[in-house]
Amino acid sequence: MSHGKDTDAADFVVVGSGAGGAPAALALAQAGRDVIVLEEGPEVREQDRGQGAAESLLRLFRDNGTQVAMGRSVIPVLQGRCVGGTTVVNGAIVWRLPEDAYERAFGSIGAKDAIPLAALEERMDRIERDLSVAPAPERLLGGNGSLMKRGSEKLGWEGHAIRRNVLDCQGSGRCMEACPTKRKQSMEVTYLPRAVALGARIRADHEVRTIDMSASRAVGVTGVRGDGSPFRVAARLGVILAASAIQSPCILRRSGIGPREHVGSHFRLHPGTAVAGVYRDPVRLWEGATQSYEVDEFRRDGFKMEVVGLPVELAGVRLPGMGDAFQRAIADYPNMAVWGVQVRAEAEGTVSPASGRADLRYTPERADMETMRRGVRRLAEMHFAAGAVRVYPGVHGGPDVLESPDDLGKMDDLPLDPRCWSLISSHVFSTCRMAADERAGVVDFNGAVHGTRGLWVLDASALPTNLGVNPQHTIMALSSLLTERIA
Ligand SMILES: Cc1cc2nc3c(=O)[nH]c(=O)nc-3n(C[C@H](O)[C@H](O)[C@H](O)COP(=O)(O)OP(=O)(O)OC[C@H]3O[C@@H](n4cnc5c(N)ncnc54)[C@H](O)[C@@H]3O)c2cc1C
Ligand code: SF4
Repeated sequence: MSHGKDTDAADFVVVGSGAGGAPAALALAQAGRDVIVLEEGPEVREQDRGQGAAESLLRLFRDNGTQVAMGRSVIPVLQGRCVGGTTVVNGAIVWRLPEDAYERAFGSIGAKDAIPLAALEERMDRIERDLSVAPAPERLLGGNGSLMKRGSEKLGWEGHAIRRNVLDCQGSGRCMEACPTKRKQSMEVTYLPRAVALGARIRADHEVRTIDMSASRAVGVTGVRGDGSPFRVAARLGVILAASAIQSPCILRRSGIGPREHVGSHFRLHPGTAVAGVYRDPVRLWEGATQSYEVDEFRRDGFKMEVVGLPVELAGVRLPGMGDAFQRAIADYPNMAVWGVQVRAEAEGTVSPASGRADLRYTPERADMETMRRGVRRLAEMHFAAGAVRVYPGVHGGPDVLESPDDLGKMDDLPLDPRCWSLISSHVFSTCRMAADERAGVVDFNGAVHGTRGLWVLDASALPTNLGVNPQHTIMALSSLLTERIA
């Protein structure tokens, strides 16, 4: 097949510049390989940083923040789309892969010899040094984090200041708008510039549409620039796909590559929701680290709780009522603490390419909704333990507001129909999942696509399942480890 004139060539082409792509680009550059990183999204300019939720969604998020998974309900699925990927807009939480999650993900597929936990931990140690990872200090907990700390301590639940990849954080609560002062050590200010200093070339506004194959070997990629012009980049040694768990399977499907029954299947999420509590004294959600404190008492039961420093325009979504009733509720914003729960859901959905955007299909299972219900019950309980005067559960068909701990029992009857819930997800997994052979998954234990040569998937899609903890650290460590072998 003719692709017209090559515009560029490199030893390796890396598609995507986020948690999977950037460490891969750096490891290749460090090994002396010639690398081109192709990123669909734009550069993050100074004027794009800290511009508020709406501007950030419009400029830095996929589909301007409107991507959704359709099923029994409609679930927003947030992803970054810019140089640095979702790391630019994420909450800076860095979670080391716990042993039980490692066993569930890699042990269950027989990959422990190929991907030993110790090898991942070695990369995690290095990443933590590189990205200045440390627990949020007391002064950055903000009202939101301090109250969660107080509530969890009163209840005797395991909680911690969150470990974050930030250097000298100013506590402006704007991590999801791209850190205004570049304190967050996301990929566009760390691994990507380091890779460039070693010779890697980064091309923003380059959307890869298909992988070019010669026999079963990946020899380049074809795509379209932001201005609509086509391009092709030849890969002398191989292509590393790291376009995320939504886009990587779409590129494979469009290219007709990989075991068809698995590419884009097994789509796993951490669906979540949030519960707002109103306090007598000001909480000031806009002060402190965006995500400063977490409670992992219930992680092994399938859910994890974190503070979420939401701006007023997003916090409003949690509140009931319209007109005067809504005005009264939103007037409480300065005194509001907002805490989220993320569920390690068992449901699997699908991702497939559609015109203009990906088609995501997903419905949580009943057991997932039962876990969600337990999670919001615990959040409400913790709000009251921390001194909340009222709590907004935010579930249609349940009580609009809880006035005291005596109302907590009402949470046990919350409906389980996902349509009654404001669910959201920012963690996506497993659409090109790793497996020993192509009867069970898309990539092997080296991240190589079964049945191909010179083609690897090194992002969240390669993870065998969802982790139950914040994923960026595991994605970066796995990508680093496997790329070192490839290089
Ligand atoms: C709001 C939010 C907060 C989060 N907070 C945290 C947190 O605190 N801690 C944590 O661990 N995780 C967090 N996450 C999740 C975490 O950031 C992601 O799991 C991780 O970045 C995924 O890595 P990835 O490499 O798979 O994809 P991404 O980081 O999304 O990178 C993929 C890149 O590929 C690009 N791309 C896609 N298609 C193409 C194409 N066709 N051609 C070229 N480029 C393409 C995309 O534009 C994107 O830049 C958060 C996510 C969100 C949305
Ligand atoms: S909270 Fe810290 S890391 Fe986040 S945007 Fe503000 S200064 Fe940057």
